[in-house]
Amino acid sequence: MNLIDGKKIAAEVEQKLLERIALLKQRGITPGLAVVLVGEDPASQAYVRNKDCACQRLGMFSRKIELPASTSQNELLQLIEKLNDNPLIHGILVQSPPPSHIDEQAITKALDPRKDVDGFHPINVAKLAMDDESGFVPCTPLGCQHLLTAHGIETRGANIVIVGRSLIVGKPMALLLLRKGLGGDATVTIAHSRTRHLVEITRSADIVIAALGRPHALGAENLREGAVVIDVGINRIPDTSSSTGYRLVGDVDFDAVAHRCAAITPVPGGVGPMTIAMLMHNCVKACERLTS
Ligand code: NDP
Repeated sequence: MNLIDGKKIAAEVEQKLLERIALLKQRGITPGLAVVLVGEDPASQAYVRNKDCACQRLGMFSRKIELPASTSQNELLQLIEKLNDNPLIHGILVQSPPPSHIDEQAITKALDPRKDVDGFHPINVAKLAMDDESGFVPCTPLGCQHLLTAHGIETRGANIVIVGRSLIVGKPMALLLLRKGLGGDATVTIAHSRTRHLVEITRSADIVIAALGRPHALGAENLREGAVVIDVGINRIPDTSSSTGYRLVGDVDFDAVAHRCAAITPVPGGVGPMTIAMLMHNCVKACERLTS
């Protein structure tokens, strides 16, 4: 078994970004990211903290905007409008999921697509589908693809099964892997909760990308010997021995499958750090484009 070290690969990505940030700073420009959090969901608070820390680490400008859960749709739309017009902000992200009275799609559509560093705006979704590199690709799939290429795992012609069809992970992941060239050219299958014979399907894969949001849902029976596993899942399960009262586990039962895998990402320390690194990458790209 070969561990795919997301922390190490993310640190390498950040190291390269520092050079691009230094060039921007020579021109008096600091890439700026605004992260908006509505409500007090503890997991979302942790994600926002990590994004803020990454900005600090890279010397980027970070504006963390925490709003009460009672914030109205209109108030949020007005804030987005201001951030769209703010020249110090190059990337805007509204942490998902917002409270249920907020229409997430309307918020996404209100973002300036040039500042949509999450890559969820319809224009960026279309650009990904059209292989137009000027758009923004969602950070988690971009991070997964980078993990594969950085680890020297060949995707060309590989049978890749993605379990999960969300707009955040599964669908953009499939589009990326279908692109021509490095990190693409795969034969892709997407499975979901209505898929029949999931075990046979995942067992046929050279690479399995698990994004179900179900702790330890995939076990040894789901994988063939020598498969590569990218585990996107982040699930909090109760753990009385931990000071937080919980621990994080993936969608794959790591202990049960690791010995059968050619390579596997751990949780935590696999896809998570890459998502943050790719957010920083998208923000630097947005800044370069907006100021060129
Ligand atoms: P969603 O809940 O939006 O999507 C889950 C997908 O999994 C759905 O398509 C669902 O099918 C499918 N699914 C659920 N149960 C099964 C099952 N038993 N068999 C097959 N398919 C199933 O989740 P996300 O895509 O947003 O996230 C997935 C996981 O990735 C979560 O654990 C999340 O926390 C994590 N995540 C991690 C990130 C990181 O940085 N590491 C970033 C983003 C997410 P259907 O469509 O039919 O309901």
